[in-house]
Amino acid sequence: MTKDSKIFIAGHRGLVGSAIVRKLQAAGYTHLITRTRNELDLRNQAAVERFFAETQPTYVFLAAARVGGILANSTYPADFIRDNLQIQTNVIDAAYRFGVKKLLFLGSSCIYPKHAPQPMKEEYLLTGALEPTNEWYAVAKIAGLKLCQAYRRQYGFNAICLMPTNLYGPGDNFDLETSHVLPALIRKFHEAKTQGAKQVVVWGTGTPRREFLHVDDLADACLFLMQHYNDEDIINVGTGKDISIRELAELIAEITGFSGEIVFDTSKPDGTPRKLLDVSRLWAMGWRPKIGLREGIEETYHWYVTHYAEKAMHV
Ligand code: GDP
Repeated sequence: MTKDSKIFIAGHRGLVGSAIVRKLQAAGYTHLITRTRNELDLRNQAAVERFFAETQPTYVFLAAARVGGILANSTYPADFIRDNLQIQTNVIDAAYRFGVKKLLFLGSSCIYPKHAPQPMKEEYLLTGALEPTNEWYAVAKIAGLKLCQAYRRQYGFNAICLMPTNLYGPGDNFDLETSHVLPALIRKFHEAKTQGAKQVVVWGTGTPRREFLHVDDLADACLFLMQHYNDEDIINVGTGKDISIRELAELIAEITGFSGEIVFDTSKPDGTPRKLLDVSRLWAMGWRPKIGLREGIEETYHWYVTHYAEKAMHV
């Protein structure tokens, strides 16, 4: 990839896509191609083909997906499986047929079996049943990575597949119904503090463990792997460390300055008990994350306060 290569970032308004755009711009890449959802519906095959025929990108970062937290996944299963299958099939197929040199596909750590040994190695894929709360999304992502592998085998198409752990950072979704845990807790604790509430309700038992990667670190890994990785095997991207939801809640309480009580609503699902990636394959290539969890949450909290909370006060 050279600095003037034509690079299409699908999903550039999302958490991951916007971080990839920031990373590429900072690294001096000048010919970035982006389309908003209104300009190009990636679920529409004909529109995607027209777009590739017109723009002829050379590299593709496929960061477009329907994403959401534990509740959104189980509330909208059809949307999650259909939209993701459509988006990835259309983009991967058009990329191959219109001569893209290399495509990077983003999967998720939820593709691994619910009871996979921890930390989860890449080879645990398809060795057991999935976590039911997000199997719709996971099945679509598994189909996406298999599509990449099949196009490589049959057509020699250079598509690589990254499996990031739970992500967070600026530009995250802070909607309490559809977001993931980290942005949800930032919002809940911030609102509780500003409204003087005595309690914050955290879903589930607090015992599940999750690994959190700052999205700028993921974007860094995407660029690194676009430059250095050309294999069929999927590759995990994470920090190698996890914490319990209770510990996460305590950390966010401290960062936001909330000193009240944390209560657990056990009527809400816990989801998978633990989700920690084995990152030895990526680390053996020399890549490491740079942003610590506390520092990353502090920065994300600052982003939330300036971009979200303050705006919400003025509507
Ligand atoms: P998951 O990693 O796919 O399970 O997705 P989430 O980020 O949505 O949830 C992670 C864990 O955090 C689950 O055990 C949730 O029950 C728990 N959790 C606690 N409070 C919240 C909350 O306010 N929102 C969300 N989304 N999850 C929460």
